[in-house]
Amino acid sequence: MTKLLFLLPFQAKAALLQGEVPVGCLLVYDGQIIGKGKNGVNFTKNATRHAEMLAIEEALDWCKNRNVAYKEVFARTDLYVNVEPCIMCAGALRISGLRRVVYGCSNERFGGCGSILDVASDQRTTDSQPVLQCVPGIFAETSVQLLKEFYRGQNPNAPNPKVKKAHDIQDIPLPSLEGVQMKDPT
Ligand SMILES: [Zn+2]
Repeated sequence: MTKLLFLLPFQAKAALLQGEVPVGCLLVYDGQIIGKGKNGVNFTKNATRHAEMLAIEEALDWCKNRNVAYKEVFARTDLYVNVEPCIMCAGALRISGLRRVVYGCSNERFGGCGSILDVASDQRTTDSQPVLQCVPGIFAETSVQLLKEFYRGQNPNAPNPKVKKAHDIQDIPLPSLEGVQMKDPT
């Protein structure tokens, strides 16, 4: 299971290489990846094409192909994402009945796990939506580094060109899994 998480920063970096805000995620059920996503907002020109939304769609297909009820699967599925899900995604994940989100750095602009709004656990929504557990701290340092790299490229006052070339960012080190502590799902 832990080895699968090594793919997470690569998802984020793949988004960065394609000129997207570097966010990538994995949906893990019973030790296997049933959905993955990387941010595709710029490519699709669709502001809802966040990594998490793409991963949810992939996981729904996974369930359909196996003729299993998604609610049963999602209730035992965890999302691993390098940045705190935004308000939209946190809402979608909670409505989908996901068990838990493990994320990297905080999302100080749109975070839906408490940084801006606490969509994940706000009790005012409905009785039928269980709280979505949110646990920060996986690959946080790498995530911050990737985001800084992206926004440096977007800033017109920055000395760097607006569009980053692959060779400009290939040197961002990806983390090793040494020292990454992951609790087994409870
Ligand atoms: Zn989002």
